Amino acid sequence: MTAALDDPPAAGVTVGADSLAGGSSGPAALEPMIAAALRAMAAGAHRRGGPLPTGDPATVAAGVAAALDGSPLPEHGVGAIEAVTALTGELTAGTADPADPRCAGHLHCPPLAVAVAAEVVAAALNPSLDSWDQGPSATALEPWVIRALAGLVGYGPEAAGVLTSGGTESNLMGLLLARDAAVEKTSGRSAAVHGLGPAGTRLRIFCSEVAHFSVRRNAALLGLGEESVVAVAVDGAYRMDPAALDDHLAAAVRDGLIPAAVVATAGTTDFGSIDPLPEVTALARRYGAWSHVDAAYGGGALFSDRLAGLLDGLDRADSVALDLHKLGWQPVAAGVFLAGAAGALRPLARRVAYLNPADDEAAGYPSLLGHSLRTTRRVDALKIAVTLRALGRRGVGRLVDACHDLARHAADRISADGRLELAAPPVLSTVVFRYRADPAHTDTVNGDLRRRLLRDGAAVIGRTEIDGAVWLKLTLLNPHATTADVDALLDAVRAAGDGTRAEAVA
Ligand SMILES: *Cc1c(COP(=O)(O)O)cnc(C)c1O
Repeated sequence: MTAALDDPPAAGVTVGADSLAGGSSGPAALEPMIAAALRAMAAGAHRRGGPLPTGDPATVAAGVAAALDGSPLPEHGVGAIEAVTALTGELTAGTADPADPRCAGHLHCPPLAVAVAAEVVAAALNPSLDSWDQGPSATALEPWVIRALAGLVGYGPEAAGVLTSGGTESNLMGLLLARDAAVEKTSGRSAAVHGLGPAGTRLRIFCSEVAHFSVRRNAALLGLGEESVVAVAVDGAYRMDPAALDDHLAAAVRDGLIPAAVVATAGTTDFGSIDPLPEVTALARRYGAWSHVDAAYGGGALFSDRLAGLLDGLDRADSVALDLHKLGWQPVAAGVFLAGAAGALRPLARRVAYLNPADDEAAGYPSLLGHSLRTTRRVDALKIAVTLRALGRRGVGRLVDACHDLARHAADRISADGRLELAAPPVLSTVVFRYRADPAHTDTVNGDLRRRLLRDGAAVIGRTEIDGAVWLKLTLLNPHATTADVDALLDAVRAAGDGTRAEAVA
């Protein structure tokens, strides 16, 4: 950054609040604004001084209200530098910073600086992927990223895909294609054109009982209803039991129902557990169902020589969801949807006169409109391509391995601590555990200790439930955290637990 906040703007450049980010004067207009934003970010982080702001939600909300000075829409603007400084400073001061090793609550990764630099450019250029003429180079770039990721999955050159807003949307796309294929097979009619018809109430989706909640929500969005989702039992390591799946599929067919989709999870959100992909995809095929693998979390293991074998069989799935804003260190959003078969995305194709007319296409102008559920769409491919080029597969794999190592260290520490209890050995980078208290108080102590850490601005740790009981979770996605950081985090959990237990018993 060469220009400082107080430097005069370059000659001929107007750095007004209404300056544009693009055009020949865009970089010069951006430079002082970005300098101001970075300076406010540094000040805000200093003010926060930890993984999250101290205090309760009302404290944070009051800070935001103060930075807005009563309104996000004043009658007269305050100017670019003042608005950028006040609001980015306050957002930074009040944020939960995933780059702090004590922030380990969710699949909420610290983005790589190189990805964020590319993201600034994506926002400034603002290409859109719904027509070639809104993003010529972006339209050329995304298919490269899709091919590279499809190759990582093990798909052939005929695979297709698209970048999405995340696992939720990617799962929706997989279930949409599954639903439409099942309706077409049953009635010979297109669900897109005619609706679900009588087959609609007979379609069933199978996933494990610890699959992501978006499977159910998407079933509802697709007109199948949440009750169309059959929850299959898991084994002691939270992996779908293929024998139970077989039983459910057979029972459904016996009852005249139609198995439309089997969703396997590669990396469950809580446990990182990976369903037996070869068995599950084979069962899907035997019953004529579409197989979709939700690898939103575990897909990152594909970058790692050590862990990629856990996903053997992924290439046999009809479609796959990946999320590079989890084990991929991208700023949100960096979802990926992939389908293995040639023409798999055809049901999404649309001809729109103002976006992808047939004569343009015949003249060699490609369009990605028909790959996506969205119309206007960001070039998320830029940050991903820049990151993959900068680090290479091995570089990303090392980050995955570092998080896996941290999870194993945390599990060892928890197992060695009589006050803590480990739920299951970690598979990827999450560790589920709890603080031991007398049975009458275990749930409240664990729930309270987590909020105590939040209120003190000390740590963000996760919470989940197993059979109705409260458990805690470390989601270790910071590859630069050290084992000493993990030790300090667990010490903080113990101390908060000791304090909370003393109060609960008193
Ligand atoms: C995070 C997650 C999702 C949802 O992904 P979003 O990017 O948040 O939409 C789906 N499935 C699994 C297993 C996940 O961990």
